[in-house]
Amino acid sequence: MKVLLINAEAFHVKHKAAIPLGLLSIATYLEKNGHTAVILDRALENTPAAKTLDAFKPDLVGVAAPAFKCFADAVRVSQEVKRRGIPVVWGGAVTSLMPGIVLDSGAADFVVVGEGEITLLELIAALENNTPPGEVNGLAFRENGSTVFTCEREPADLAELPVIDFKFVDPRRYFVRNVACERMLHVYASKGCVCRCTYCYNPAYCGGLWRARPPAYYLEEIRCLVEQYGMDGVCFADDLLTPDSARLAAFCENIRASGLRFIWGGELRADCCTRENLQSMYDTGCRWLYFGIESGVPERQKLIGKCLNLDKAKQTLAWCREIGIVTSASFILNFPGLESDELRRTVAYMLSLGADLLIPSFYGPIPKSALYEQLVAQGLMRPPANYREWEKIKMMDLFGANYSAVPDRELRVVSAHFYLRNFFWKYEDGGQSRVYVKKAFGQVREFLGRGGLRSLLLLARAAGEFAQVVFYATAFPAIRKRYGLK
Ligand code: SF4
Repeated sequence: MKVLLINAEAFHVKHKAAIPLGLLSIATYLEKNGHTAVILDRALENTPAAKTLDAFKPDLVGVAAPAFKCFADAVRVSQEVKRRGIPVVWGGAVTSLMPGIVLDSGAADFVVVGEGEITLLELIAALENNTPPGEVNGLAFRENGSTVFTCEREPADLAELPVIDFKFVDPRRYFVRNVACERMLHVYASKGCVCRCTYCYNPAYCGGLWRARPPAYYLEEIRCLVEQYGMDGVCFADDLLTPDSARLAAFCENIRASGLRFIWGGELRADCCTRENLQSMYDTGCRWLYFGIESGVPERQKLIGKCLNLDKAKQTLAWCREIGIVTSASFILNFPGLESDELRRTVAYMLSLGADLLIPSFYGPIPKSALYEQLVAQGLMRPPANYREWEKIKMMDLFGANYSAVPDRELRVVSAHFYLRNFFWKYEDGGQSRVYVKKAFGQVREFLGRGGLRSLLLLARAAGEFAQVVFYATAFPAIRKRYGLK
């Protein structure tokens, strides 16, 4: 069967499109099982989907909408496909958590709930052999006006999923500049997370399960990306690189034993590694780490289910500084019910960490997450009724919705202060490279090169957002002083 896999676009500019690892894994898996796959990444291509549909003439189209903001595009593209009588299946973490909303849109015939590779392969077999899709685990679809959920799909043994073949895209188009590297790409070494943070999609999507990929698989992918495409840095896209110190030591040992040398970084819990771990990480090429701290207040840590040991976290960041690993630490400004005094305590804690970059972020509701269910149960939020309402939920916006008791202006001043500080942050690499300024110019160049009205609109939007950041970061000295921001 000929399968077209489409990555829907989101109208935002803050991050360059990441290489679509999920679709690449599915395309590789389908091809290994005798099918033909093509990927159309609309986050990167201005080409109309109709052109690819006419040229490739697929028998089935898979659509990934990796964020709420992609829904409009995903629906538009799906309607175009359905007009041609081709079945459409949606998949991905976000849509897995809201299959009913997706099916209500009328844009999808099927929704894959959970991982896509095996479910899609079995769905193709069902369509080819004319057997009932109800026999395929991990699917949702409409039948006689009601939604059918088939049996749950068990998480796959990651050794049965393939080493990704990158030929379906041009990896060079996804290169991103980062600390100590200019051509960084994402790769993943594991799936899921053992933690139960109430605001995160992971507990509902992965059920607290963390699975490692066989090291030989991702190391082979890295070797291929370095040798064939010239990648010089890896961002491990795992939600949690490893859950504990012993597995972190094994992870570093695998890189060392592979003989591959590359710059890398990833995301870790800040209270689960030793100084020896961090030194081994540095020795194998780790130059940056991202830590989701989210709150500097122990009571809030318990409330959100993160339960981070804040003293250990501070120690970890101090070790990173000594060793030479650049650190980013994020915190959430707008937890429901959070008051100004609590935000002041969090800001004070964040400043005491000595992190290179402090990343302010805004909580946004995720379907089936514990915090979202809580907000709905307490009547603090009306559940969005359809995909259009979900699309309006603020996620990845410059300033998110305010669920806290802190005045809007204070949230904006605090976040803008850190955005601006991060923008001009210097990486002391001898050349004192301003990574984010260079990234921004790279992005502008790319949009200008791509041309078209959409690119101009994105640029205008980025300029408008930057002006807002400068305004809020500079126009309210009294608020900055209240939060101890210089
Ligand atoms: S540690 Fe990170 S990935 Fe894991 S549940 Fe918490 S927020 Fe989600």
